[in-house]
Amino acid sequence: MDIGPLPPDLQEVVRFHGHLCPGLLIGYRAAKAAAQYLGLGPSRDEELVAVVENNSCSVDAFQYLLSTTFGKGNLIWHDHGKQVFTVIDRDHGRAVRVSFIGDRLKSKGPDGKVDREAFARALLGAPQEQVVALLEVPPEPPAEAVIEPSLFCARCGEPVQASRAVKIGERVLCKPCAVQEAS
Ligand SMILES: [Zn+2]
Ligand SMILES: [Zn+2]
Repeated sequence: MDIGPLPPDLQEVVRFHGHLCPGLLIGYRAAKAAAQYLGLGPSRDEELVAVVENNSCSVDAFQYLLSTTFGKGNLIWHDHGKQVFTVIDRDHGRAVRVSFIGDRLKSKGPDGKVDREAFARALLGAPQEQVVALLEVPPEPPAEAVIEPSLFCARCGEPVQASRAVKIGERVLCKPCAVQEAS
């Protein structure tokens, strides 16, 4: 997909994600809007948490631009299938909910399908109020990640986080083994 010259930070996001697509641009606009709303500096050393309500391309823009990542545990996924993202700034006790409202930026190509390239161009160029809606919300950061002891699965022998282990009778199993045992 080629929609002309991209801003440098978007070029980096595309490199991280692997391709340019409308979903990534939704995330790019949403993450930038959140950062601007919360007055985040470029250093990104703030204690941020992102709660994302989908697991699509858009989330990668948050992982890259806000450094809210799956691995660090400051990216929380709720499987709602919605392009909604809440960014919590723990240091300043503020949070903003960003929802995508730019469905009208879609246009149909001659084949009657959404013209993805035109949509991408519109997502990049449209004024912010046509792309996302922002709402200040109470900052309710999820509980800090706790270091849990590991248990050993009685079937495969591999260590498993205690809170994720499954007890069947007196045996402690990891989830995949518990599923196999039950079938
Ligand atoms: Zn993508
Ligand atoms: Zn196991």
